[in-house]
Amino acid sequence: MYVVMITPECAPAAKVGGLGDVVQGLSYELSIRGNPVEIILPKYDCMRYDCIQGLTRAGDSFWVPFHDQWIQCDAYSGFLDSLKCFFIESHSHHNFFNRGIFYGHRDDPERYAFFCKSALEFLLKTNRHADIIHCHDWQTGLVPLLLFEFYKSRGLTQPRVCYTLHNVGHQGHTGEHILRQVGLDPALYMRPDRALDDQTPGTVNLMKTGIVFSNFVTTVSPRYAHEIRTTTLGYGLQRVLNAHTNKFGGVLNGIDYNIWNPEIDSRIPFHYSADEIDNKFKNKEALRHRLLLRQDFKPVIAAVGRLDRQKGVELVRHAIFYALTHGCQFVLLGSSPDARINHEFWQLKRELNDYPDCHLELAYNEELSHLIYAGSDMIVIPSIYEPCGLTQMIGMKYGTVPVVRNTGGLGDTVFDADYAHKPYRERNGFVFNDYNYAGIESALGRAVNMWFNAPQYFRELAVNGMRTDYSWNRPGADYLNIYNLIREK
Ligand code: ADP
Repeated sequence: MYVVMITPECAPAAKVGGLGDVVQGLSYELSIRGNPVEIILPKYDCMRYDCIQGLTRAGDSFWVPFHDQWIQCDAYSGFLDSLKCFFIESHSHHNFFNRGIFYGHRDDPERYAFFCKSALEFLLKTNRHADIIHCHDWQTGLVPLLLFEFYKSRGLTQPRVCYTLHNVGHQGHTGEHILRQVGLDPALYMRPDRALDDQTPGTVNLMKTGIVFSNFVTTVSPRYAHEIRTTTLGYGLQRVLNAHTNKFGGVLNGIDYNIWNPEIDSRIPFHYSADEIDNKFKNKEALRHRLLLRQDFKPVIAAVGRLDRQKGVELVRHAIFYALTHGCQFVLLGSSPDARINHEFWQLKRELNDYPDCHLELAYNEELSHLIYAGSDMIVIPSIYEPCGLTQMIGMKYGTVPVVRNTGGLGDTVFDADYAHKPYRERNGFVFNDYNYAGIESALGRAVNMWFNAPQYFRELAVNGMRTDYSWNRPGADYLNIYNLIREK
């Protein structure tokens, strides 16, 4: 099965969050199962070029119609480890992908509409007839519509489209001009059963467009699939998801055990496994040493992630103070594109600067994240909503016990030490329901209490997490089943 991913992110070169990890991990899994995979990305100026091998121009320039002009583009090929990628560069005064950051510009819908169009134009011009085009999030929501409307009749007859929703909190709302820019007549598409947003009159919803025109739609955990269809967590997509329920499902993400694995991780100083966990504690010492925390008989509690409202930043903040007043240490690694949240956390960092039991690293630092997963005892993830969440699964692989809110993929992967309807060997963390201080305290308090008073149980919980299989093995098979279901036969 020949699969082309069209995506705004792929780790390690272009990663903002979990989407980048997922495209990388799934593509790798598909290719080791013998399916050729190619990945098309924008050629961002802010990518990690040091991670791309053999970057060279691929073929001749091609021209992409956009709005009232033709824009010249070049494709570059290169490898992210063994994954073949194409990076699209546009030569236009819009400077679509040379903005210093991945997202956060007023014209993001236009930037990605152009990306969708240029990716399809590239496939057509280079005669790439994939069986499956797999596209991701609102940024690529126009791909299935453009394929259906223009590119099938121009020769791309083969591909079927699988579309994955990584986070419906971002849907790509924009004006009807976007349709004109890619060559479509708004009068045909500004309808409730097509591109028109269900909540805001006169607005195009790019994610909805992707849902309507794809052959299959997935989201990244079964629980989130249910939540976005049946609750306000769908942020207005409930109706369209219910209308297309026969082509919609949740596939739990995996994590790539070639990258996230304490037995072989080159970014941590001491390797360990579920059978031989003692070296984890040497990593804890190394983490404390690196972040200038004191060496003491205390658990290290971590938080790693984007500092976004969705991630429950008020409760992360509360967890820091809870930890410091209950004999624990706290390490936070996170950054925020939101100026207000950033400011709040910088303020907090200054307040806590002199504490020997706390370190806030307000940055994006892939390498440090590995040491934090390996050197911490617990990881807190108090999200308001969480489509899947990777940090709890990564934490578990490193024997770091997750303390999570019961939502989305967190609810699908973390089973409470005290209350889960599971045998003890399948329990792997602590879970709370209510999004408030009492909620997080109820779970974090039990975790801290177990660490101090029942260390043997705590260790078993950590080992249970390490033994649970959250690799791409199962989700890889699930995606292949979906591809087989929809492919042109
Ligand atoms: P989301 O996709 O919502 O950001 P996920 O939990 O699905 O959240 O994925 C987050 C990924 O990004 C993980 O691989 C995590 O380690 C990584 N990550 C998030 N913030 C940072 C950071 N500040 N530094 C390093 N890695 C980070």
